[in-house]
Amino acid sequence: TDVVLDVRDLRVEYVNGTSRVPAVNGVSLRLRRGEVLGIAGESGSGKSTLAYAITRLHKPPAEISQGEIVYTNADGSTVDVLAMRDDELRGFRWEELSIVFQSAMHALNPIMRIGEQIEDVLKAHRPGMSTQERAARIVELFGIVGIPADRSGSYPHELSGGMRQRAMIAVGLALDPEIIVMDEPTTALDVVIQRQIVEKIMELKDKLGFSVIFITHDLSLLIELSDTIAVMYGGKIVEMTAADDFYRQPRHPYSRGLLASFPTLGGAKRELTGIVGSPPDLRHMPGGCAFHPRCPLAFDACSSTQPPLYQVTRTSGGTAEAACLLFADGADGTTTQNELAM
Ligand code: SF4
Ligand code: MG
Repeated sequence: TDVVLDVRDLRVEYVNGTSRVPAVNGVSLRLRRGEVLGIAGESGSGKSTLAYAITRLHKPPAEISQGEIVYTNADGSTVDVLAMRDDELRGFRWEELSIVFQSAMHALNPIMRIGEQIEDVLKAHRPGMSTQERAARIVELFGIVGIPADRSGSYPHELSGGMRQRAMIAVGLALDPEIIVMDEPTTALDVVIQRQIVEKIMELKDKLGFSVIFITHDLSLLIELSDTIAVMYGGKIVEMTAADDFYRQPRHPYSRGLLASFPTLGGAKRELTGIVGSPPDLRHMPGGCAFHPRCPLAFDACSSTQPPLYQVTRTSGGTAEAACLLFADGADGTTTQNELAM
């Protein structure tokens, strides 16, 4: 398979004096070319920390203490993102991987015309480009995202919210990256416009052929738009599966609870009614399966044995990976899963 980004056993810790709190704890995942990989989980599950670590935009006290992030170039050569020097990283971030924050005001420079912001990126990373070529590229990018060419001289505050988002996407796409990382919005207002940004990105993905890592707690949006879904809990991936299968037959008890909180796709999000209790305190992780204090199916071994990701065969014939002892030794967990069906 054509893997473009291979994250191996990544660990990110928040360091404070002698205390080290793992926010991402041994995460492995693979992003395939052209694929949308959705990462789900409650606040504090580690999904944003993971996104920032993948792009190496994490800041102290967060520290990557273990793992590899292998990026495969279009020509098949590979680079370890964690081994890159700062100057290599700056190029990598624009050329290969770009981040689209879902809050346009944070991503654009408020005192620079939007055309100039793109021009700046081109000047810095495409020194061989002539002024005319840069101007042509700006027009092309505006066309791709649907901004009228005459808005090039506008400042971000002179644009409507929708146009600002498009401008932000245009900046992110300036150097034709292979991967777009989208982190969830942080405010309710952003959530309202999130769908428009996300839909624009997905439309462009098909046209331009990049891959997407999409992080949100909006499970219905995630299922609708992702090819593969990874569910995080307590800094670990607890389920990884094709999005369709995930919706039809989530395997991990936590995934069942998450889905129960989203009764209809596209419908209003509810609180996590499917799961009693709170996410774990990363400083005091429960022993065994981190989900056991909240799990309706917990049994004795769950408080002492930490489940690895087991391969699980689906009744549909597909496979999933689930970190739950119900699936140990090839058990399909069917009986118990049925009991949990609501
Ligand atoms: Fe629940 Fe046990 Fe599975 Fe953890 S290992 S999800 S506590 S059944
Ligand atoms: Mg977050």
